[in-house]
Amino acid sequence: MNKEHKTERRLGIMGGTFDPIHYGHLVTAEGARYSFGLDRVIFVPSGRPPHKPGYIVSDPLDRYKMTCLAVASNPFFCASAIEVERPGPSFTIDTVRAVMQLYPGVKIYFITGADALLEIFKWKDFDILLTICSFVAATRPGYRLFELREKTASLPSGLKQNISYMEVPALAISSTEIRQRVHGGRPIKYLLPESVEDYIKNNKLYSK
Ligand code: NAP
Repeated sequence: MNKEHKTERRLGIMGGTFDPIHYGHLVTAEGARYSFGLDRVIFVPSGRPPHKPGYIVSDPLDRYKMTCLAVASNPFFCASAIEVERPGPSFTIDTVRAVMQLYPGVKIYFITGADALLEIFKWKDFDILLTICSFVAATRPGYRLFELREKTASLPSGLKQNISYMEVPALAISSTEIRQRVHGGRPIKYLLPESVEDYIKNNKLYSK
C-alpha cells in the first residue's frame, strides 16, 4: 500500500491476551502496518476474556505493563489499557466503538490470531463488527486456512471480504510455549523483548 494514494486514516487494533507478548505478535503488527498502510497500531491486551471462564490468565495489569514495554521502541505502536480498565467482560465490539469515538472517521483493522477468529460467530454482535471494521487474521506456519474459509463461507460477500489473512512465520513462537519454558526453567531469550523477559523474571510470572 502506497501511503501517497491513501486518503483515509487507518488504525490497527492488535487484540490478544498477550500472556506474555512476544516477537511473533510484534512481527505480526509490523507486517499488518506495512501491508495495510496503517498509520498506527494500538495493542489492546484483553482485560477479562469473555470466552475463557475459569481459565487462568495472568493479572491484566501485568499483561498491560509487558505490552507497554514491548511496544516502546516502535513509534508507530502504542498500548492501551482500555480493556484492562473497563469493568466486566472484554467484548471487542465495545473496544472498537470506543476507539471509533476517540478517532472519528478512521478505518479500523482488528488484527488477531486466526485461531481466535475461528470463533468469531460466538462473539458479541459479530455481524455488526464485520460491518464496521476489517479483520486481519494472523496465521502460524502450517495453519489450516481452509477451516477459517469454510467457517466464513456462509457469510454475505460484503462481510467476507472484510477478513484478510496473513501468514506470519515468526508466529511459530507462542505464549503457551513461553509460559511452559519459564515453568520448566528453560530459556526464553530471543523469543520476546529483553524488557519483557526481565519483567517476567522480576515479577516471578509463570514460575508456579
Ligand atoms: P488468544 O487466546 O490470545 O489467542 C488465540 C490464538 O491466536 C493463539 O494461538 C494466539 O497466540 C494467537 N494470537 C492472539 N492474538 C494474536 C495477535 N494479535 N496476533 C497474532 N496472533 C495472535 O486470543 P483470544 O483471547 O481468544 O482473543 C483474541 C482477540 O479476540 C482478543 O482481543 C479478544 O478480546 C478478542 N475476542 C473477543 C471476543 C468477543 O468480543 N466476544 C471473543 C473472543 C475473542 P499466542 O498464544 O502466542 O498469543
